[in-house]
Amino acid sequence: MRRLATRVLVVGGGPVGTTLAMDLAWRGIDVIVAELRHRGEPPSVKCNHVAARTMEIFRRLGIARRVRDAGLPHDHANDVAFRTTTTGIEFARIKIPCRRDRFAVTDGPDGWWPTPEPPHRINQLFLEPVLVECASAMPRLSYMHRMKVLGFSQTDEGVTAEAQDLESGETLLIGCEYLVGCDGPSSEIRRQIDARFNGDAMIGRTQSTYIRAPSLTRMMQAEPAWSTQSLNPRRSANMFAVDGHETWLIHNYLRPDETFDSVDRDGCIRLILGVGPNFEYQVLTQEDWIGRRMIADRFRDRRVFICGDAAHIWVPFAGFGMNAGIADAMNLSWMLAGVLHGWAAPTILDAHEAERWPITEQVSHYAMNTAQSLARARAEVPDNIEMDAGVRERFGRTVHDLNVPQYCCGGLNFGYFYDRSPIIAYDGETAPPYTMYDFTPSTVPGCRTPHVWLGDGRSLYDAMGGGFTLLRFDRSIDVENLAGAAATRGLPLTILDVDARHEHKLLLSRPDQHVAWRGDEMPDDPLRLIDVIRGAAIPARPSAGIA
Ligand SMILES: Cc1cc2nc3c(=O)[nH]c(=O)nc-3n(C[C@H](O)[C@H](O)[C@H](O)COP(=O)(O)OP(=O)(O)OC[C@H]3O[C@@H](n4cnc5c(N)ncnc54)[C@H](O)[C@@H]3O)c2cc1C
Repeated sequence: MRRLATRVLVVGGGPVGTTLAMDLAWRGIDVIVAELRHRGEPPSVKCNHVAARTMEIFRRLGIARRVRDAGLPHDHANDVAFRTTTTGIEFARIKIPCRRDRFAVTDGPDGWWPTPEPPHRINQLFLEPVLVECASAMPRLSYMHRMKVLGFSQTDEGVTAEAQDLESGETLLIGCEYLVGCDGPSSEIRRQIDARFNGDAMIGRTQSTYIRAPSLTRMMQAEPAWSTQSLNPRRSANMFAVDGHETWLIHNYLRPDETFDSVDRDGCIRLILGVGPNFEYQVLTQEDWIGRRMIADRFRDRRVFICGDAAHIWVPFAGFGMNAGIADAMNLSWMLAGVLHGWAAPTILDAHEAERWPITEQVSHYAMNTAQSLARARAEVPDNIEMDAGVRERFGRTVHDLNVPQYCCGGLNFGYFYDRSPIIAYDGETAPPYTMYDFTPSTVPGCRTPHVWLGDGRSLYDAMGGGFTLLRFDRSIDVENLAGAAATRGLPLTILDVDARHEHKLLLSRPDQHVAWRGDEMPDDPLRLIDVIRGAAIPARPSAGIA
């Protein structure tokens, strides 16, 4: 039997697995991605939005421009429009700048965000090929298509996965030090680590249809939008522009008393679009799915982890399924790299679940609550909405205000913080609360390191190193002791002088751009601080089974 060896095996080359693999390779770790699909085989048409925080990660990986160059055409509106039907009367609109104007127009509801990378509209259909192409070009990353991972066994020393080449039928063994299951909602890896999905098994039924309709844009009474919500008493739905020309994804949210079999798919689509029986369109794909809120009760068994939809699924409101999965992956990636490079203690890996599980739980509730409040609004569409302009204006304000938090979810992008982590040196100050929409940038340990533009015009994030970065806001402070302690443990540390006034003179930012520590003077025991942030202060659990 053929044997391969790598340091990390990523099972599943969806957006989460591919980004994880890229980040590991970027950090100098050899990685194999095993993916069922053929090279170039598109995923199903799902996520339509890359969050700003994800774009920041793509920027660090050097692929933000590639991603931004794909997606909706540069002048296609990124707005969310509310209409009586797709071709009916428009009564409200959330204005979001198109790709061409994204960096220049800052007066929209997400224009105030302190980020070098605003969000981007691109369907997963177009995003994944860009990610796979960029990943395949990385020297330390090997992408194996048509490779199905069947199972694995693990010891204290490593993991051996059994995989099958779906083209030749050949079975092979892949030895690795860590395995990460990014194998989606039906994850086999989740099953094999004996993790269980808990949560809400039924939030609502959605009938999704991906259509081609070349004449639809011409029939619209207003400029096409990225998301067009049809709201009328007969049938309400949401439709996303996919290629910006002739393809759309329609989500028909069924009422609680409806089942997939009890509704007429074509009849509903015509009601949603506001078109008659002679209107021609082609169904490209269709999917009937039940919205759930499920989180695995563990993200790890010793050397094996799960990330992304393998670890959690929820209704795709607030655009945070894929984006939350990528955030998981980025939290795990630097810790794994630290262990494999030898500067982090293996016990650091306990911090991954401690940090991500509470955030995952919280985001899942935000998404579910949004789904439920929008379902209530759909059930309350006024009967006379098509007849009465005043009714439309009032209802338009309601749905506009309900939707801004999910489509401009600054809190989910930038506000979340890790407040129960064993590898963060807290200082007693509580991080500012955040909502789905709102947040306050903060340097409280655990928060995302606030972004600023440096005096020379660079983004702070571009100037920070790939490891830890000590931001020094007062050059008179001698930081040699901390630099020396980091060197003693081999921990990668960049010192970056920032010529700006700041509430604290020193801020230590982690490789994932979250604050690990801050202060006005050197810590009393720099080596102790370094040991905390590299996970060496976490007591080893005998059952962890990691070397
Ligand atoms: C209708 C809809 C709309 C959505 N909209 C949004 C949105 O706007 N924003 C957002 O953030 N998210 C959205 N999502 C969610 C998003 O699509 C998922 O969260 C995302 O695809 C998860 O990525 P993943 O890489 O974890 O899993 P997947 O995309 O499911 O990828 C898993 C991969 O693993 C491979 N695989 C599985 N088993 C094996 C195996 N044994 N061996 C090898 N390979 C294997 C599969 O082929 C697949 O490529 C939406 C989802 C749906 C259904």
